[in-house]
Amino acid sequence: MRRKVTEKHQVIVIGGGHAGVEAAVASAELGCRTILITPSIKKISLMSCNPAIGGIAKGTLVREIDGLGGVTAETADKTALQFRMLNMKKGPAVWGPRVQSDIEEYCLTQRQKLKDAGVNLVQGLVTKMIGPNRRIEAVLLSDGRKIKGDAFVIATGTFLNGMLHRGKETWPGGRRGDISAIALEKDIRERMFHVKRFKTGTSPRVLRKSIDSSFLEKQVSHDLSFRFSWATKNGVKNRETCWLTRTTGKTERIVRESLEQSPLYSGRIRGKGPRYCPSFEDKVTKFPERTGHPIHLEPMGKASRIMYLNGLSTSMPEEIQEKIVRSLPGFKKAVISAYGYSVEYTCFETGEFDKTLKLRETENLYVAGQILGTSGYEEAAATGLLAGASAARKVLEKKRITPDRMSSYLGVMVDDLVTRGTDEPYRLFSSRSENRLNLRQDNADRRVFTLANNLGTLCERKKEAYVKRERKYKQFKKIMASKRVQGKSVEDICKRPEISPEDIWEIIGLRPKNMDEREILSTVVLDLKYSGYVSRAEKRYRVRKRYGQVSLSSIKNYDDVHTITIEAREALNRRRPVTLSDAEAIPAVRQADLDALVLYLMSRSVSRET
Ligand SMILES: Cc1cc2nc3c(=O)[nH]c(=O)nc-3n(C[C@H](O)[C@H](O)[C@H](O)COP(=O)(O)OP(=O)(O)OC[C@H]3O[C@@H](n4cnc5c(N)ncnc54)[C@H](O)[C@@H]3O)c2cc1C
Repeated sequence: MRRKVTEKHQVIVIGGGHAGVEAAVASAELGCRTILITPSIKKISLMSCNPAIGGIAKGTLVREIDGLGGVTAETADKTALQFRMLNMKKGPAVWGPRVQSDIEEYCLTQRQKLKDAGVNLVQGLVTKMIGPNRRIEAVLLSDGRKIKGDAFVIATGTFLNGMLHRGKETWPGGRRGDISAIALEKDIRERMFHVKRFKTGTSPRVLRKSIDSSFLEKQVSHDLSFRFSWATKNGVKNRETCWLTRTTGKTERIVRESLEQSPLYSGRIRGKGPRYCPSFEDKVTKFPERTGHPIHLEPMGKASRIMYLNGLSTSMPEEIQEKIVRSLPGFKKAVISAYGYSVEYTCFETGEFDKTLKLRETENLYVAGQILGTSGYEEAAATGLLAGASAARKVLEKKRITPDRMSSYLGVMVDDLVTRGTDEPYRLFSSRSENRLNLRQDNADRRVFTLANNLGTLCERKKEAYVKRERKYKQFKKIMASKRVQGKSVEDICKRPEISPEDIWEIIGLRPKNMDEREILSTVVLDLKYSGYVSRAEKRYRVRKRYGQVSLSSIKNYDDVHTITIEAREALNRRRPVTLSDAEAIPAVRQADLDALVLYLMSRSVSRET
């Protein structure tokens, strides 16, 4: 057993998940001697759930991570199996890029990124922090090693006192095949930090060869040239096919008849789960009239033997999962290679951390990822980058930097988590931002460049590439401003809803020569298209900040406000906030709901006056 006290590191990152990797890379980029401690180096950045990166708002966040100097985007491009742009029925402002990923390649690539960044990797399980809360001095590993550091980032995902559930079985674990971080959680509780329990779940995996694809619908990739990272030379390559099937009436019947066997419904799981990634049990119970729920078959890797069943998260007993799976069209002879389960875990309460992601009571302890109360790889990676940079800045005695909600989804997420908190695993949506027509995936680098510069996380290579792109942006903008077509300015033509960036290039005869130019031209056009909306959103935000004390007492029943979500209506009717600021503090009330409330109040005061 090794008991030697190793060399002192400046930043120590605990946990090699999506948050831990970005935290370590950001800290190393700032020049800190950084060490990442994780129980299995082979499993660094393992995708515990679905093999995919991106989605609505999440895909935009991945591009922000790239603009901030993180590695998730480059890895997602390199290991992509298939690309799709979600939400294309709506305007380009809310499109969501998403890739299927090869999970093994993903782990390998992330490990290499850490090595390239000069991060020292240590295999081990942290059991305890040493030193008073105000100033942590070292961490103790289960094998007795003690490692000293100046600042620490905890990024332990679903592992803090993780308990796995399936049917009547319950056993400790961070996820399938990994031990639970019981001792570290005990240390956190004994240090009197406020914590809560959340839960999440995953679907069964099935052997590809046991499925009859003639019953399935092909999910083809989108034939758009796309990349998450501006450093990726060409668009992502499509190397695999995904498939779609739907549940049958029989599937729902099996679940309904076995509900008492699900730990979610027998009362054994108390932790709050993600509303927007519900278990299949929840789908059947909450929408009893519905059948034909979509189930996406996603390969776990290039030519992998195993397919992930996205949409079928369940913690039913194994024999019920067999019945559920075999009731799907094409799955009569399906063989399950791993059963679905739920995990309950500990995370930090709202109010415990500030906007640099430092635990308030401490001077040098930062938190990132799922333990902030988020869900998803992308949210974890982005908060990891911020926490790692903040920890390094603390060590280097640089001033604290926080993201701002009007210019990035990272800012939206951090502001939401710190000021309003979350009573269920937090997931990003475009509707969480009051400035969503500006928070687009295409312009992410322009929006976060100042933040990246202030944080110090962008390497010289990416900085130079950005400056070159920015020069091109200004050049294209100038060309457009100088052109008129049939007596109309190009800027005005851009604003017409039916006009796309491609139409504008055609009209003004500007043909992009490469991927950089194509992307930059699109951004110029979309910036012009949405400029009116964006300045109105910014004005509304300022007004709302100013009128936070406006009374909501005139609204007797929020069901009358049809423009807000059902989730917000329920929460507002229950909590009865006195002012707009009080409503803003309710996690279920999103920015779009607040804007709708302002408009509702304004329209009522206008109709009373007229
Ligand atoms: C069963 C399951 C289902 C999920 N379902 C969904 C879903 O439906 N939708 C969704 O968005 N997300 C889901 N997730 C969550 C997703 O996996 C996380 O959002 C994401 O992985 C969080 O990243 P992270 O870096 O915070 O943590 P993780 O990726 O979990 O990484 C944590 C890391 O910390 C390490 N670690 C833990 N304890 C210690 C310790 N004491 N010492 C050293 N290292 C330690 C672990 O080994 C691991 O490397 C699910 C996760 C699980 C386990």
